[in-house]
Amino acid sequence: MSSLSPIQIPSRLPLLLTHEGVLLPGSTMRTSVDSARNLQLVRSRLLKGTSLQSTILGVIPNTPDPASDAQDLPPLHRIGTAALAVQVVGSNWPKPHYTLLITGLCRFQIVQVIKEKPYPVAKVEQLDWLEEFPNTCKTREELGELSEQFYKYAVQILDAVSLEERFKMTIPLLVRQIEGLKLLQKTRKHKQDDDKRVIAIRPIRRITHIPGTLEDEDEDEDNDDIVMLEKKIRTSSMPDQAHKVCVKEIKRLKKMPQSMPEYALTRNYLELMVELPWNKSTTDRLDIRAARILLDNDHYAMEKLKKRVLEYLAVRQLKNNLKGPILCFVGPPGVGKTSVGRSVAKTLGREFHRIALGGVCDQSDIRGHRRTYVGSMPGRIINGLKTVGVNNPVFLLDEVDKLGKSLQGDPAAALLEVLDPEQNHNFTDHYLNVAFDLSQVLFIATANTTATIPPALLDRMEIIQVPGYTQEEKIEIAHRHLIPKQLEQHGLTPQQIQIPQVTTLDIITRYTREAGVRSLDRKLGAICRAVAVKVAEGQHREARLDRPDVAEGEGYREHIVEDTKPESISDTTDLALPPEMPILIDFHALKDILGPPMYEMEVSERLSQPGVAIGLAWTPLGGEIMFVEASRMDGEGQLTLTGQLGDVMKESAHLAISWLRSNAKKYHLTNASGSFDLLENTDIHLHFPAGAVTKDGPSAGVTIATCLASLFSGRLVCSDVAMTGEITLRGLVLPVGGIKDKVLAAHRAGLKRVIIPQRNEKDLEEIPGNVRQDLSFVTATCLDEVLNAAFDGGFTVSTRPGLLNSKL
Ligand code: ADP
Repeated sequence: MSSLSPIQIPSRLPLLLTHEGVLLPGSTMRTSVDSARNLQLVRSRLLKGTSLQSTILGVIPNTPDPASDAQDLPPLHRIGTAALAVQVVGSNWPKPHYTLLITGLCRFQIVQVIKEKPYPVAKVEQLDWLEEFPNTCKTREELGELSEQFYKYAVQILDAVSLEERFKMTIPLLVRQIEGLKLLQKTRKHKQDDDKRVIAIRPIRRITHIPGTLEDEDEDEDNDDIVMLEKKIRTSSMPDQAHKVCVKEIKRLKKMPQSMPEYALTRNYLELMVELPWNKSTTDRLDIRAARILLDNDHYAMEKLKKRVLEYLAVRQLKNNLKGPILCFVGPPGVGKTSVGRSVAKTLGREFHRIALGGVCDQSDIRGHRRTYVGSMPGRIINGLKTVGVNNPVFLLDEVDKLGKSLQGDPAAALLEVLDPEQNHNFTDHYLNVAFDLSQVLFIATANTTATIPPALLDRMEIIQVPGYTQEEKIEIAHRHLIPKQLEQHGLTPQQIQIPQVTTLDIITRYTREAGVRSLDRKLGAICRAVAVKVAEGQHREARLDRPDVAEGEGYREHIVEDTKPESISDTTDLALPPEMPILIDFHALKDILGPPMYEMEVSERLSQPGVAIGLAWTPLGGEIMFVEASRMDGEGQLTLTGQLGDVMKESAHLAISWLRSNAKKYHLTNASGSFDLLENTDIHLHFPAGAVTKDGPSAGVTIATCLASLFSGRLVCSDVAMTGEITLRGLVLPVGGIKDKVLAAHRAGLKRVIIPQRNEKDLEEIPGNVRQDLSFVTATCLDEVLNAAFDGGFTVSTRPGLLNSKL
């Protein structure tokens, strides 16, 4: 038995305000620290401190007052117990907190609070001396136990500094406790002998019971759980290595006190280990013919993608293994990439799980946190396996192009390991710390663009481009798939709502501007919601009309309309038809529900001045039409470029200007003062308005040249022409990418003529027949041809000299 007597405490003590009981000198208790004030104290005094002095705290009992502001220091009890912090255990989950094991040394009285923030520190006066430490203080320990129930008494005992007073305070409590025990014995007297033994033991156990540990019943329950867990480990089909780790961990768990934060951690770990599908899988059922039918049934158009997916599945069936590149569907949002992934899982009879990678920049998202780290978790792969409960699901790695990078490591590197068939049968999540075999998982990736996929990852993938849809395709998709799905989701039938194709076209052209069908789907959802309200209202009204006691009054109707967002359907009389008549969604209804159209054709308006031309851009979200505007002003030959554009675009602008300057004479282009030197005393400003997406790439060359030709000639570019193509200094037109998406964008915008580089002519084959019919294509090898096609009546000097803005 060690003796520390007499203890002299420091004259200044940091104060720990505790509301979990009263610590008396000589007793020991666990107290949890979670208030900001106490957390600060623990961090700066206990975690940083090195001397014994720094581990002595002043413990002040404090009743939490919910009304008081947590920022302010509550009124402090004047007497407290100086305590030695014996142990600090910390955890970050569910929020940062510590558990302290403290032993009371002696009483003190606060003389003056010297500091309140970040934690209170007080000048103190020591009131008594602990002479022996700590076992002779059994009685006080019992009182500590009691203090949970008799908080008030305990504080008074704390305050009773003189021995005599202290006896006076404690004797009634002891008497009461003895009486309580007697009563307990009496009520159980008639029970069986076994029980008696338990009763005899119980009071003893309770006395030695350390405040803060679980009740006996809870302990029993917990022990049952541990037995169950142990049994599960024994019967689990996990590999040997994992099994060994589990056996070791459960042994450790059994020895651990349950109050230790590590207890919960270890238990969670073991529970995950037994839950993981180490050997559980679904049986593949692959019938290529059935797969084709299913893919066709679920998806309209996207022939190239469906064909490639079927090939992939067929090869898998023949080779019977999964080694090979990972499929990566690349295309704008809402073109059905996820949906095809889901169908692949369905055809194989596998579970499907989507892992969103957008914005993931920490490799532990993929590979988990080590278990030494507080609040650690497994990564998304292992979590996904736990969710699906089998080891051969289809995992859709969504948005691999949006993976980030940070100080926490490169998630792409972790993903590489996951996808590599040579390594992934041994994938080790940091949390699990044992290998899990991922070789049966079928991975499919999706992305909007390949440009930002990390090269090493791209190398492992087979890219399948999924382009946007034409208007006609969208109408078909809407009527075959989206509308039926929306009706079902809203509990509607075709007898209740009809959306004619012209309305769908209106939604596509006037309410959405997208390559895929996601907004279209959302708008259809909004229509169904509005109609569902009307139908429900009709049914409700019918029911009320059936009842003679309820007459339909105007007030009632108004009430319903008010309840159901009247702004979406203003004139509801035609929509609120009797339920046997379907509600027809025409343009008026559309305007009522969706508001005024968001996109009206603005093209001709914007082209009503010289110096504007329409280009076609490719962005990760699909094709887009892009207005290029130019203006000139007095200056010193400066070129200013504005809009969201990258370096390549700037180079194109310089090329276009140089070409125009060198051809100014040929085309009779002059600056404001009539000089062929276009930049003499002149500044040019080029602007690429609209769209937050950075436009880069050389394909705007022809558009910039045309726009400048318009500016310097004073002639208008035809309002229904769009163009794309890279240029050289000599005015040659070079091929560019993304022709299909670009042409579809021109078609969406209602343009009629598209100028493309001659060497892109072959790409026109990909364009659906009906779009090709609506548009006329001009293929150009040089800028002369582009300009001739972009201006009404051509642009060559010889044919139209009179129109040129020439002073000659
Ligand atoms: P992505 O993954 O490409 O962003 P989604 O797969 O989420 O797109 O598609 C959005 C919605 O459009 C889904 O409800 C999907 O079923 C539907 N969809 C997209 N393309 C088609 C198609 N060709 N046929 C039928 N439905 C489609």
